Amino acid sequence: MNDAFFAAGKEWELGPDWLGQRCGAKTRKGTPCQNPAMKGKARCRNHGGKSTGAQTAAGLAKLSALHWKHGRCTKAAKAETKRRAQIGREIRSELRDIERDAIASGTLAKDWRDQFK
Ligand SMILES: [Zn+2]
Repeated sequence: MNDAFFAAGKEWELGPDWLGQRCGAKTRKGTPCQNPAMKGKARCRNHGGKSTGAQTAAGLAKLSALHWKHGRCTKAAKAETKRRAQIGREIRSELRDIERDAIASGTLAKDWRDQFK
C-alpha cells in the first residue's frame, strides 16, 4: 500500500519534473521555495505572489525613494541631458557654418587646422 501511495505521489502534477515557474524565494531552511509561482508572477502565494505592489501615491513615492541612487536616470535628468546635447549640436553646426563662410571669403586658410598640430 505504501509503495502505491508514493508512486502516486511521484505522478503529482507539480512534482520534481514539472516545467512551470517555481517560486524560488529563500525559505527559513535556506533552500529555494519550490511552490509553483502565481500566474504572471515570480513568487508563490506564500512569498508575495498575491501582492499587488504599491497602490497609493504615498506608497509609490516611498518605493521610488527606496530605489533612488543618484537621480541621473530620472525623466528630468534625461531631458536635461538631451537639451544640452541639442545645444551642443546647434553650436557645432553654427561653428561649421562660420568656418565655411570664413574659408569661402578667404579670411581663413583651408588648412588652418594644420597650424595647431
Ligand atoms: Zn514561495
